[in-house]
Amino acid sequence: MAKPEIAKLPKAELHAHLEGTIAPAMAKQLAKKNGIDLPDDLFTDDGTGYRWESDGTAAGDLVGFLKAYDKVAGLIKTADDYRDITYDYLKRCAAEGSIYEELIISADHGASVGLSYKEMVDAIAEGVYQAREETGIEARLLSACVRHYGPDNAVKVAQQTVDCPHELVTAFHMAGDENAHTVADFAPAFKIASDAGLATSAHAGEAAGPDSIRDVKEQLGCIRYGHMVRIVEDDDFMKEMQAFGAVPEVCVSSNLVMNVFKDYAAHPLRKLFDEGFKVTLGSDDPPFFKTTIGKEYKIAAEEFGFTEKELLQVTRNAVEAAFVDEPTREKLLKKIDDYAASMQTNTPANSGNGAGKMENRR
Ligand SMILES: [Zn+2]
Repeated sequence: MAKPEIAKLPKAELHAHLEGTIAPAMAKQLAKKNGIDLPDDLFTDDGTGYRWESDGTAAGDLVGFLKAYDKVAGLIKTADDYRDITYDYLKRCAAEGSIYEELIISADHGASVGLSYKEMVDAIAEGVYQAREETGIEARLLSACVRHYGPDNAVKVAQQTVDCPHELVTAFHMAGDENAHTVADFAPAFKIASDAGLATSAHAGEAAGPDSIRDVKEQLGCIRYGHMVRIVEDDDFMKEMQAFGAVPEVCVSSNLVMNVFKDYAAHPLRKLFDEGFKVTLGSDDPPFFKTTIGKEYKIAAEEFGFTEKELLQVTRNAVEAAFVDEPTREKLLKKIDDYAASMQTNTPANSGNGAGKMENRR
């Protein structure tokens, strides 16, 4: 069988944290501009990613990762920096074939550098518009609260988000430590967001087990879950969530680096897809996990045996679950359909099909 042609295949990503997308080249540029010293040992030898001290335990890795993450995120000082990192990331994604990106943004981070929520969002939007004009890539933003900052802070972030609506901010999200507080504590924040018409999603089933997913479903009513991979620990619940139509945002490289699974063989990406989940792929904090959205698709093909058709289904899953307006969704689906049609005309096995109309697997 021919190897899947990954480079040109349309891709879409629902799970990337904006501050976590800053590539080393951009980090060095920001450090220079903002007069910040960066230790050389922050970068991997090949200069494409970041490294941190690891003591070989999951907890130790998390501490090291967060330290490196804070150093890099701390390079953002101004609204222009937000614009530049957004533009830079989306351009790189478009170059890898991504047609749609959702970025998780943090009002708390904006506040930490003295920007109002509005100043931060306007700057990020400028980066989105600029990248879209140059490459055609679409993007939407998820305003996120940080779970370990507590429920009161989450209410504050939700309120800021709805008080200052922006056409690109289409959802409210919860990131941060899955073991901090209870999910129910965050129901008031999510109610503010959903009452204002925002979609919702949350991290669950990564650091914590299936109960964290059940809590998010029952307390917050989400259909999309950041990670969700630990659902495989509970067979019955897994079947229930598949029937419910839950969408897992699977970030394989992130899971391996953060010790959620020890290697590709142990990772449930293939299992979730075969169980019928509307699996999507994400890079989470790409340079920290030595990955990109293009690489995640490549890993799915090379390590999990995804065919080109299956990868296109992954992109379709993402677009169908995207927090985006219907006209834009239709446009994105058409790009996928057009690519599928070109795939079929290029496949000799289908050359005898005289029906003219392509079978649409949507
Ligand atoms: Zn994440």
